[in-house]
Amino acid sequence: MSHRYILEESKTELLESLRHRGIGERVIAAIESVPRERFVPPSLIHRAYEDTSLPIGHGQTISQPYTVAYMTQLLDVQPGCRVLEIGTGSGYQTAILCALGAQVWSVELISQLAEHARRLLGELGYHPTIVVGDGWQGYQDAAPYDRIIVTAAAPEIPMQLARQLCIGGKMVVPVGRDDQAMYLITRVSDAEFDVFATAQRFRFVPFVRPQASNDRDSVAR
Ligand code: SAH
Repeated sequence: MSHRYILEESKTELLESLRHRGIGERVIAAIESVPRERFVPPSLIHRAYEDTSLPIGHGQTISQPYTVAYMTQLLDVQPGCRVLEIGTGSGYQTAILCALGAQVWSVELISQLAEHARRLLGELGYHPTIVVGDGWQGYQDAAPYDRIIVTAAAPEIPMQLARQLCIGGKMVVPVGRDDQAMYLITRVSDAEFDVFATAQRFRFVPFVRPQASNDRDSVAR
């Protein structure tokens, strides 16, 4: 049995289990179209279609497929949507957004991850704008956005990001310390935001605040 055959079989199984867990066909088609095996380290290719997060180096992870599917579905991405992603990581979630026809800006703190993702996404024919930097303040240059997705755990709702949404725009963000609820924030008007939190819990790597920790360091010194 060839390696490729085994991957295809496990991909089919994964898609089937995502369907059973309530993921709709549009998101399923996007996941089907993106080769997750290209976004994991070579030594973990055989596990690319397990429904689990995997290490990608620098202490970071590629999110679990179910989590990516769930967040993507909640975000309700339409073709042509302007989407800001915080936490490019492997670039897998970025590719799914592109596959749904979105125009994507993605901010990543770790430059090596950003560069790797930029090259890989280009090779696969996706052309998001990958920005190296601290996504805590979002990315004002291309604001406002129709959608914002945060793929790292925020300690509280990042309202500074929600203010980069257009009216009617939506943001999906995992909020919590040890584990996280998924929050859907909708900008109802200039000053009003609707907040909905899911009962389901998730586990993300932390949304790092480099400036805040530098501040603490300088106080300690
Ligand atoms: N969507 C990614 C998930 C990566 S994990 C994937 O599926 O591969 C979360 C990412 O958020 C990590 O790469 C981490 O470096 C990044 N991150 C954490 N804090 C950040 C910040 N303040 N600004 C930008 N990126 C950040």
